[in-house]
Amino acid sequence: MIEAIVGMLGLVIGSFLNVCIYRLPRGESIIFPSSHCPNCGKALKWYDLIPVLSFIILRGKCRYCKNPISPLYPAVEILCCFLAIASIKVVGLNVSAFLLFVVGCLLLYISIVDFKTYEMSVGSILLLAILKLMFEVSIKGISKSSILYMVLGSILNTLLVGLIYAVSRGVAMGLGDVLLLMAGGVGFSVRQAIVCNFIAFTVAFIYVLALKLNQIILRRNRKVREIPFGPFLSIGIFISTIAGETIADFYYQLILVR
Ligand SMILES: [Zn+2]
Repeated sequence: MIEAIVGMLGLVIGSFLNVCIYRLPRGESIIFPSSHCPNCGKALKWYDLIPVLSFIILRGKCRYCKNPISPLYPAVEILCCFLAIASIKVVGLNVSAFLLFVVGCLLLYISIVDFKTYEMSVGSILLLAILKLMFEVSIKGISKSSILYMVLGSILNTLLVGLIYAVSRGVAMGLGDVLLLMAGGVGFSVRQAIVCNFIAFTVAFIYVLALKLNQIILRRNRKVREIPFGPFLSIGIFISTIAGETIADFYYQLILVR
């Protein structure tokens, strides 16, 4: 029952996150004006704004001008719903779960903005570092050694990509990628840092492979544009935050069995 309520809340917050994703990079206010169609400018009624449901009822088109609505909108809402449920499943119904959820939403925001604009704002990354720190403190408490570990995790998580950034002089990886790993790695153990990087590179590899295959099948010779790495790093950061230790344990057992 509680999962259903939390999931609903996730959907509604996802809807708000969509507004942020669309407006903040354009420097627009997230409060005024009220939601409108980006194509025809018509103000949307409340029944056009029900998460996921409105998209299905309208069959992915604006009610007024029939311009297609990006499927990214319902996707973000559904992802937020999952993030909310996962957060309470992992740490229980408490402040830590709320912080974990906000960290997840922020990673989602950074990912989609990076995917669309090839840019990450320093403000959002800084906010991520602060929220990740608050989350870790809410779980592990605060002491001299825990603060040291928070910083250490951040550095460990950045080693590989930092090296690629330095060697390629910012061509293969951007400074945003390095900063994102630094912020997301706050409080990571060695194992979590390894799992985070491993997942990020694996998912990125699969994505590039799928893109290439798609090109070959469709016989398109268009060169693949530079690929934004933020979404993959964000996936790695979030999964390792909630399950990094478990995944590492599972991996050790696999090698021990052999
Ligand atoms: Zn319209």
